[in-house]
Amino acid sequence: MIYVGIDVGGTGIQVGLVDESGKILCKGGIVTRTDIPFDMQVKAMADCVLDTIDKGGYTLGDVKAIGAGVPGVTDPRTGNIAFCTNLGWVDVPFVQEFNKHIAKPVFVGNDATVAGLAESVAGVSAGSDSSVFVTLGTGVGGGIVFNGKVWNGFHGVGSEIGHMILELDGEPCTCGNYGCVERYCSATAIIRMARELCAVHPESEIVKVCEGDLNRVNAKVVFDAAKNGDEIALKVFHRYVKYLGQLVASLVNCIDPEVIVLGGGVSKAGDFLLDAVRAETRRYVLYKTLPSARIELAKLGPDAGIIGAAMLGK
Ligand SMILES: [Zn+2]
Repeated sequence: MIYVGIDVGGTGIQVGLVDESGKILCKGGIVTRTDIPFDMQVKAMADCVLDTIDKGGYTLGDVKAIGAGVPGVTDPRTGNIAFCTNLGWVDVPFVQEFNKHIAKPVFVGNDATVAGLAESVAGVSAGSDSSVFVTLGTGVGGGIVFNGKVWNGFHGVGSEIGHMILELDGEPCTCGNYGCVERYCSATAIIRMARELCAVHPESEIVKVCEGDLNRVNAKVVFDAAKNGDEIALKVFHRYVKYLGQLVASLVNCIDPEVIVLGGGVSKAGDFLLDAVRAETRRYVLYKTLPSARIELAKLGPDAGIIGAAMLGK
């Protein structure tokens, strides 16, 4: 039997056929269209699923379940999606609509949650008893997996790691609160901190690389300059690592998972980031002499969305 994973993104929708072990067998995809109504969007996804099954040489009879990971709030119990801003969905009956086209078990989950599930099936946290996945991208997302199953909380609104508050009366967040983790641990935060410092330190390598245009600052530029020993970039890097270390330590102190996985674009900084975060986390972990969570980098990359969505039905 195979599983189908749908990774619903703001610009593209990727579909993949996935085996029991989390290996992708065949892929397809369509462009995300926000100019058509919800029922048409779902029909386009279902058509893409059928095309991909066909392309892979399988039939619907080979499919055990279909899963979709969406950048929004989902209710796995009803199959409804409460919010998905990128696609303009508010409280839509996703599973019910999808089943009009394909009569198979269909599951929905948040995109960060399914990426965490993917890592726990076929990635760096494979075979672990429990893991917390933290995606460090434009925002910060979270995926909690216990015994191979995602944990979204009793009401389905949990694992929003990016909106735990890290700084009282801190930076305003898109969610309406102030001082959220996302404002300090995302790529967006690195860019903000770098721009603030570069405005008064034009001698920084960051400014040179961006040819004076601070709109061109991104996380990679900042971390590359930090690796080269640029003083301003290192200031940003150390501040970022301090925030991230405190977040990771709080996850250790609160949840004590077997593994904490760092994913998303920022995690591409590799061991430079990982070594620093591991050291910083140790400073804030409560029981320093006792064993605690391994901290690792995600290894599946962009395919995690497809794999994790597919594994929702396993
Ligand atoms: Zn927030």
